Amino acid sequence: MPGRVCFVGAGPGDPGLMTARSLELIATADVILYDRLIPAGALSGARADAELRYVGKEGGGSSVPQEEIMELLLARAAAGSLVVRLKGGDPFVFGRGGEEAQVVRAAGIAFEVVPGITAAVAATAYAGIPVTHRDHASAVALVTAHEDPAKGESALDWAALAAFPGTLVFYMGVRQLSAITERLIDGGRSPQEPAAIVERGTLPGQRVVHGHLGTIAELAVEREVRAPAITVIGSVAALGAELAWVAPSGAHPLGNTQAGAADGGPLRGRTVAVTRARAQSSGLAERLRDLGATVIEAPAIRVVARAVELPPLSNFDLVCLTSPNGASILLDRMAERGEDARALAGATVAAIGPGTARALAERGIRADIVPERFVAEALAESLEGFMIRRALIARAAQARDVLPDALRARGIEVEVVALYDTLAQPLSPEELEAAKAADYITFTSASTVRFFLEVGELGPQTRIVSIGPVTSAALREHGREPHLEAARSDIDGLIEALTADAAG
Ligand code: SAH
Repeated sequence: MPGRVCFVGAGPGDPGLMTARSLELIATADVILYDRLIPAGALSGARADAELRYVGKEGGGSSVPQEEIMELLLARAAAGSLVVRLKGGDPFVFGRGGEEAQVVRAAGIAFEVVPGITAAVAATAYAGIPVTHRDHASAVALVTAHEDPAKGESALDWAALAAFPGTLVFYMGVRQLSAITERLIDGGRSPQEPAAIVERGTLPGQRVVHGHLGTIAELAVEREVRAPAITVIGSVAALGAELAWVAPSGAHPLGNTQAGAADGGPLRGRTVAVTRARAQSSGLAERLRDLGATVIEAPAIRVVARAVELPPLSNFDLVCLTSPNGASILLDRMAERGEDARALAGATVAAIGPGTARALAERGIRADIVPERFVAEALAESLEGFMIRRALIARAAQARDVLPDALRARGIEVEVVALYDTLAQPLSPEELEAAKAADYITFTSASTVRFFLEVGELGPQTRIVSIGPVTSAALREHGREPHLEAARSDIDGLIEALTADAAG
């Protein structure tokens, strides 16, 4: 069976702007070849055994030559794999998707195209700039200014572009901006025409620079605008002043109602890196944003459920869950064989902490036991007084044996079922660099510590925040002392420690 290639757009950077189809394909792909500008955590949902390859490139420079990318893509597809070619924004808008599709078609391999939200539409929208407007523009042109207009060899007809009756959006070309604007003015466009640059549109740290066609190039240099950025030229650009809805730090949409954003929030101006898996961040990133922080998502870990067969639950008088993932995957596996919460009716259910208890509650189960300290040792202690003979511990494959050992020491017969794997998640050089520059970095488990430090470094100014003693021990094993440790080993505790520290 020949394979298939899917050209998939990952959108402009905000992970929330990925399409349902893109997530579906990422979750099923055998092979994912991805570029630089894909959202943080875009690959979190990939299969554990999928081949994930960074073939990133930006502008003209590429870390893997285009021919090599195509060879790899064709070879994998020919061998029967489902290959996802993941690109920032839309795959057919300045992403070489069209060129790659031609090669794939010529090779006689089937393909699919999944559009993504392109930067010209997304970055402008996040800057409050509508690219069309009945009173301003009935047309919009997407232009790549990648080529150097000074070279004369330009494929662009500058006179025609200058005469274009609508909004112009330029991709790339921050460096060529002065040549671009000069040519447009020479071609007859007014230097007074509103213009704006959106840097890192939809991403943490989004920045918008407003000016006019005659001044925008100079402003870009002055304000040190860097890629990725788009430049909008047209009277709609001025509407950004009226319609801006993302706070200047870029972290928080003013438009949503959560507290914190409008009045600044206790973490305003602080950058916080989050290393846990996006799927399980249980709102950590969102909550930090609500407190005003700029969040760097650098998910060093991903969680992949195993297709395990559960033992009959009626065999146990105690069922222990040691993470929210464990809770939800246990219930998924139960549902697969036609069971629901009632299958746990005969057992005492223990959750290691409130997050796990919440995950159980979402599925209709109230934990009987939640220890005061959220570590395995405390869970074992809190069983005092319960009559227990046989216990099931449902957890990650990679976990400490403290809990099973402690239960066995109490004469309890223990069965451990590994419901999921925690695997290292590749991080792009940009994610690592952004995390290194952060004011704080949060670690929520020993595996996030291990996986992050395998590939990343901590900045000298970065304050290390640990969720609890086990995570702190893992940090010390790697020669790093946490600056802060949560008094309560859960997300609330972590956020408390962080906000207290930020308040000085
Ligand atoms: N296929 C992509 C474009 C790839 S070309 C798309 O459809 O969006 C890369 C250029 O896109 C960058 O140089 C920049 O001009 C623009 N770009 C990509 N992401 C951006 C972002 N988040 N904010 C601003 N511009 C962005």
